[in-house]
Amino acid sequence: MARIVMKFGGTSVADLDRIKNVARHVKREVDAGHEVAVVVSAMSGKTNELVGWVQGMPKVVGANSPFYDAREYDAVVASGEQVTSGLLAIALQAMDINARSWQGWQIPIRTDNAHGAARILEIDGADIVKRMGEGQVAVIAGFQGLGPDNRIATLGRGGSDTSAVAIAAAVKADRCDIYTDVDGVYTTDPRIVPQARRLKKIAFEEMLEMASLGAKVLQVRSVELAMVFKVRTFVRSSFEDPDAPGMGDFLNPPGTLICDEEEIVEQEVVTGIAYAKDEAQISLRRLADRPGVSAAIFGPLAESHINVDMIVQNISEDGSKTDMTFTVPSGDVEKAIKVLGENKEKIGYDVVQNESGLVKVSVIGIGMRSHAGVAATAFKALADKGINIKAITTSEIKISILIDGPYAELAVRTLHSCYGLDKN
Ligand code: ASP
Ligand code: MG
Repeated sequence: MARIVMKFGGTSVADLDRIKNVARHVKREVDAGHEVAVVVSAMSGKTNELVGWVQGMPKVVGANSPFYDAREYDAVVASGEQVTSGLLAIALQAMDINARSWQGWQIPIRTDNAHGAARILEIDGADIVKRMGEGQVAVIAGFQGLGPDNRIATLGRGGSDTSAVAIAAAVKADRCDIYTDVDGVYTTDPRIVPQARRLKKIAFEEMLEMASLGAKVLQVRSVELAMVFKVRTFVRSSFEDPDAPGMGDFLNPPGTLICDEEEIVEQEVVTGIAYAKDEAQISLRRLADRPGVSAAIFGPLAESHINVDMIVQNISEDGSKTDMTFTVPSGDVEKAIKVLGENKEKIGYDVVQNESGLVKVSVIGIGMRSHAGVAATAFKALADKGINIKAITTSEIKISILIDGPYAELAVRTLHSCYGLDKN
């Protein structure tokens, strides 16, 4: 017998039939004798609708956010999860399973005060654990908690993944199963590379890179939490028949396990290829090469909440002038150029240039730490296809390459096959 947290995303609870189907997944685990807590999202599209309603209201003068009172935004958008938690509890009860719904404030899941993008600070799992021990399934509304002001706080879009992992850590679950509309994590986007393979296992660190680079399976924050608390997390599909053979296999359920690297025995050098579209490059030419220049550039950008990614600075030839190139999301270029313009004197550059519509392709794998020549393989493969590289950055487990947008798919396919990731 084990303790399992099962999380179901918006498409998995999109209508009443799907909620009944989710109940069958839960029943399977209950019947196997496990203690179960379930975390649910709102029905797909519901949160967008709720956000739209809030935005459609008249602006309140003096509100604590640009358009509205963020605490009331949370009161409205958290309601989607309240609905699905109640409906799933009813569906379970109808199958003769002892179950009840829990809102974030009832547990409570304590968060900080950042309404709309709150972080979980603490979860008191005692009550849930006690009831699970008595055979009751806890059906928990994801995405929400209770702020220090005693009001509902939501965790940011996609936040119910984070709710699930945090609950799993709090109740010391053996496993956290994230049920979604895909059946696992793939070596790359299967829509671009049909030869992409589903991974059996992926290390937390690798998943963090894949998630933050646009493999939109999990909220990035949930992977960070899983890594910190070492929560073994499975990504699996809710659309398979709940009672198909192997679905209830405790050690080896169908899907991808995100786990500690020590659990991965046969580590490949490269695990996956990720890409991020709509990147833009900004270059400052003939900068003064002196202490404080980088701080003068990136300080004001950070204050304006512009997310800077790749940063490349050249070593100057004569010790007086240098060039600096960095990337931002295409949507932030105008704002960035404006901020740089306002700080031109202080920074001390000659001209600023920019180019949008670029793509960052990344090769990811913890096996790179102990292998030479991984980057050279990528450069050769891209050169053979005539793809020009605009910038390169690397970390211990990642090589990121900036290229022109139209070459994105070719680059992803080329890299996927040059590291032997294509399925036979
Ligand atoms: N329902 C919320 C959203 O759409 C939270 C989630 O689905 O994870 O962002
Ligand atoms: Mg989601």
